Amino acid sequence: MIPKSKEIIVTTPHAGAAEVAVRAGLMGLRTNHEILGVVENMAYFVCPGCREKAYVFGQGGGERVARDLQTELLAQIPISNLGLETTSPFDTGGTQRESYQRLAEWVMSAVRLRG
Ligand SMILES: [Zn+2]
Repeated sequence: MIPKSKEIIVTTPHAGAAEVAVRAGLMGLRTNHEILGVVENMAYFVCPGCREKAYVFGQGGGERVARDLQTELLAQIPISNLGLETTSPFDTGGTQRESYQRLAEWVMSAVRLRG
């Protein structure tokens, strides 16, 4: 009854979120979905002043989920440092843009390769 599909598991760096994400991934595997990999969202914040990274939600969630599901961590996407008035992840100058671009290219080629 469940259609065939591939999954990308999204978590934050926080341990609680990682636990929920692992469970979601295990459910996917049980229904014969292929897990393409893990994306860690809100991975860090880049200070617009000094460019230093602040790990506001902790660290390690993405790596833990990837390890538990025996897959890879595809991307660590930072929190936008552009301010609330510009919320698009594709805005020029934003710290998210490059991460999303690389992830999108990876997913397109992976889906093409694996069919
Ligand atoms: Zn700073």
